[in-house]
Amino acid sequence: MLANSLVELDRAHLIHPVASWRGHEAAGVRLLASGKGARVRDAQGHELIDGFAGLWCVNAGYGQDSVVEAATQQMRELAYATGYFGLGSEPAVRLAARLAEAAPGDLDHVYFTLGGSDAVDSTVRFIRYYWNARGMPGKDQFISLEQGYHGSSTVGAGLTAIPSFHAGFGVPYDWQHKIPSHYSYRNPAGSDDAAIIEASRAQLLAKVAELGGPERVAAFYAEPIQGSGGVLVPPKGWMRAMRDLCAELDILFVADEVITAFGRTGPLFACEEEGIVPDLITAAKGLTSGYVPMGAVFMSDRVYQVIADGAGAAAVGHGYTYSAHPVSAAVGLAVLDLYEGGLLENGRRMGARLMEGLRGLGDHPLVGDVRGRGMLAAIELVTDKAAKTPLPAASQPATRIFDRAWDQGLVIRAFGWGVIGYAPPLCCTEEEIDLIVARTRKVLDLTL
Ligand code: PLP
Repeated sequence: MLANSLVELDRAHLIHPVASWRGHEAAGVRLLASGKGARVRDAQGHELIDGFAGLWCVNAGYGQDSVVEAATQQMRELAYATGYFGLGSEPAVRLAARLAEAAPGDLDHVYFTLGGSDAVDSTVRFIRYYWNARGMPGKDQFISLEQGYHGSSTVGAGLTAIPSFHAGFGVPYDWQHKIPSHYSYRNPAGSDDAAIIEASRAQLLAKVAELGGPERVAAFYAEPIQGSGGVLVPPKGWMRAMRDLCAELDILFVADEVITAFGRTGPLFACEEEGIVPDLITAAKGLTSGYVPMGAVFMSDRVYQVIADGAGAAAVGHGYTYSAHPVSAAVGLAVLDLYEGGLLENGRRMGARLMEGLRGLGDHPLVGDVRGRGMLAAIELVTDKAAKTPLPAASQPATRIFDRAWDQGLVIRAFGWGVIGYAPPLCCTEEEIDLIVARTRKVLDLTL
């Protein structure tokens, strides 16, 4: 079928996620046709470097034969097995065991979901169950960060702080609360690490007090690096300080590693970099590298035992038809083999090169900030570096920056307020990293 008629069919029938529906009807879809390694081709045969790994998920790169093989073999052998009725499948058990072994501390129990949103959603349900089991049903308030993103399930969208995920939906989120982000580049406490950490601690303490004290607060959620908020990297020590404060207050600490896990920032889990063990971790994306849907909740033994004892002989009523899907699990195992077989190492080397290259763009008149860790980075564009004046969205909308990059053969994420995000596949070569940087410079020159 001709690409043009597909564009028409898309316009008429396919609702796109997080899009202006009218805007999309006008613009039409760009169809991607194939991918290999870090490169994709559109339906017209135009080759691009995917500097965003799809939606920060194709960590292993496209067209990895071992992953395709694992999925095919599993589909042939046993396409589906439920986890209900005490049943299961070998790949799901093996993947859970390997992940539990690799995860920090006593995060020994894994609950598989279909993606990140339902992983977050599951944690909310498990956490409420946990506090009820401990005889503290009053701990029913949840806190997260401004600029945070925790998915778009009905419950998780409340933890998400991005206004378009709330406006118009009319869902009451009065039990979900926000404190300011660390956002070092624009933090009113200044750019000093210790001051930012102290401000965040004070803000969490104040919010807990405002809600009636720790006996009202169930959990605090944070991404090790805030992704959809614009790749906001907390100062070193921030995650540890917040984790420790939650432990002191007897508030559960959830690290949302949907983007950061599986090598995106270097190690398998970003929490390892601060040596912290959250009460729960959510993950998805790199878990199956985007080849098939899957997410996961990592639950500490402490939380698990309370819920298990609390339920006793009764079922913990939370599950999906596709929990621990065997094909997704087989893909997860194949992807883990790639990570452990050299991909994490390559990602670490390429991440250092990417950061160095992007820092080299700091001399450009539009670049106000360069930030990131590993293969997760952003540059923030400003019209006045001293005043940190954001790029005017009206004259330089994100779509225009995205289009310019596309024309240069580069896929990036353009955020509305002049932030360009990067999350390339970990399999990138040195040449590809250098091309990402060089093509970005061209985009910036065209944006001046
Ligand atoms: N949590 C974080 C930190 C995310 O970045 C995302 C998605 O980008 C989600 C949750 C939701 O994941 P999904 O889109 O797989 O539902």
